[in-house]
Amino acid sequence: KSKENGGNLYTFYRSSFQIITSENLALQTSLGYALEREELEVYYQPKVSLRTGKIVGAEALLRWNHSQLGIISPARFIPIAEETNLIVPIGEWVLKTACQQTKGWHNAGFSDLRIAVNISARQFNQPDLYSRVYQLLIETGLDPKYLELELTESVLMQNTEVSIVRLTAFKALGVQIAIDDFGTGYSSLSYLQQFPFETLKIDKSFIGKVNSDPKTKLITKNIIQMAHDLKLNLVAEGVETQAELNFLYYNDCDEMQGYLFDKPLNVRDFEERLLAGKSLQILPAKSDLD
Ligand code: C2E
Ligand code: MG
Ligand code: MG
Ligand code: MG
Repeated sequence: KSKENGGNLYTFYRSSFQIITSENLALQTSLGYALEREELEVYYQPKVSLRTGKIVGAEALLRWNHSQLGIISPARFIPIAEETNLIVPIGEWVLKTACQQTKGWHNAGFSDLRIAVNISARQFNQPDLYSRVYQLLIETGLDPKYLELELTESVLMQNTEVSIVRLTAFKALGVQIAIDDFGTGYSSLSYLQQFPFETLKIDKSFIGKVNSDPKTKLITKNIIQMAHDLKLNLVAEGVETQAELNFLYYNDCDEMQGYLFDKPLNVRDFEERLLAGKSLQILPAKSDLD
């Protein structure tokens, strides 16, 4: 059905520059149809408490099952969705799907699950984002306190005054805010403190080096310490090894997500983990540290 859009993406390039251009154009076109063709799917990556070892929520991560190209990573198509403004309807669909799904899990007895949804710059800059979120919460019946919006520092930094107003409105509604990829931008935690948010997510580039690079280890320890002094909830992303987990646990990080526990999962697989009560293995008491 979509031969014109995707069938011969690779047949007419001459230089690498043209490959990128024509490929992006073709992706733009087919991304425009992705929603109605039901090629988009929300995956859920478990977030796990380091106190109880239990799944406390999930991050919604979008997947695109392209009819010809197979699964395309969000790192590839989210920027295209941003440029074309397609991120607005797509982002709204993700929000709605994730809230609906989470309400369903609540009804099934997993009543404390939280859901985190990524919001990119274009979405955050939509003047009606707040009212759309409000509307979706009413439509789906999800209690606002179980919804968390993940925003990067750079998005908040674009217009600090407007960002503060928007975040304050979400806070009043009870929706949680998390700073995503913390440490990859240029802002300090003390500067970020002007924004009302509850959760800080330490970027996976730090987590991946805590056991090999002494400086990263020290910086990460300090981020955790400072975040706690500021009463923030701390999430580590991209946890891949037991050694990284041990470091986070003994340094009092609150929650983790990463391949060590699970990759982003489709609904069926995520539910399987919930029903099995999958949890992190309990670590030795912190006081037993030598
Ligand atoms: P993000 O929000 O920082 O999401 C975390 C990314 O790290 C995800 O990549 C996740 O699959 C990956 N990840 C999780 N654990 C590990 C690990 O242990 N090791 C490694 N190497 N990676 C891990 P993903 O799903 O490819 O998404 C990439 C980015 O695309 C996201 O980064 C987010 O910025 C964006 N994105 C994804 N879904 C959406 C969406 O629905 N809306 C918007 N606006 N952006 C989205
Ligand atoms: Mg995120
Ligand atoms: Mg992140
Ligand atoms: Mg990211």
